[in-house]
Amino acid sequence: ALAENKAHAAKPAITKDGTLIEVAANIGSVAEAKNAIQEQADGVGLLRSEFIFMDRKQAPSEEEQYQIYRAAVEQLKPEQALVVRTLDVGGDKPLAYINIDTEDNPFLGERGIRIGLDQPHLLRTQLRALLRAAQHGNIHIMFPMISDLNELILAKQLLEQERLKLAVKAVPVGMMIEVPSAAIMADIFAEEVDFFSIGTNDLTQYTLAIDRGHSKLGVFADALHPSVLRMIQLTCDAAAKQDKWVGVCGALASDAQAAPILIGLGVSELSVNIPAIAEVKAAVRSLDISSCKSLASRAICMRSAREVRALLQSSLNM
Ligand code: PEP
Ligand code: MG
Repeated sequence: ALAENKAHAAKPAITKDGTLIEVAANIGSVAEAKNAIQEQADGVGLLRSEFIFMDRKQAPSEEEQYQIYRAAVEQLKPEQALVVRTLDVGGDKPLAYINIDTEDNPFLGERGIRIGLDQPHLLRTQLRALLRAAQHGNIHIMFPMISDLNELILAKQLLEQERLKLAVKAVPVGMMIEVPSAAIMADIFAEEVDFFSIGTNDLTQYTLAIDRGHSKLGVFADALHPSVLRMIQLTCDAAAKQDKWVGVCGALASDAQAAPILIGLGVSELSVNIPAIAEVKAAVRSLDISSCKSLASRAICMRSAREVRALLQSSLNM
């Protein structure tokens, strides 16, 4: 079965009716970049850059970060993209050297891009390192936790200012869709980015107002809830109108069963945990777009996550 899986992974993930779906990897280290490509990922859809910042007394320097991003992108083939998400701490991920006042609701407080904009030296340093590393490979920059257009505009301004100072080429810029306001206003955001990547973990948490790690309620935070699927639909429809691509990098992408719904909604890249690459590629090859579309349009009309799961189950038995 292992050999069969490997053979599956080596072939591209093309649906029966000829649509290529990129199956990329989520990674959190340079070693994983190498591993992901060995396991036949089509690229990296999410490099969580937090690992560079954790377990240390002060923020990593520009040079240190540059070396890491460069080493990561050099593991990929030239045509493959490395999507690097800028520092996404706060919420459940505190950092000793970043001052955040104690908050009653950290998930609704200084998180992700909000910290980057509040402490711009941190974000500027990271952006400079990324821009320099992008001279050695296909790096895309992605901003986390965008909830308001102004955050995106400000982050893009910082990026452009650093780019002009370095006098280097521009890189593709994207944003996470993981807050309902961003999904609802995806038509506005789509004008400002090259791509979206949907973070179903946070999008589910914020849409259903259930802490993603809650011991009792966590089981109800199901990313297949029709409300979350409608957020994904809004995002994909808005992106398609402006010829922008949409990926999913939340845990839902690694669930091969969810692939027909996500693809039916218009997602063209699934960024998954390394062990899921072969299985998700195999799932994509068994699908055709027209049946995915009809399945997706039925799913968003369901009344609960349970009904969506039942629908998926019955479509498997067909
Ligand atoms: C997400 O929220 O779905 C996501 C991919 O980001 P993280 O899990 O790192 O918050
Ligand atoms: Mg997130």
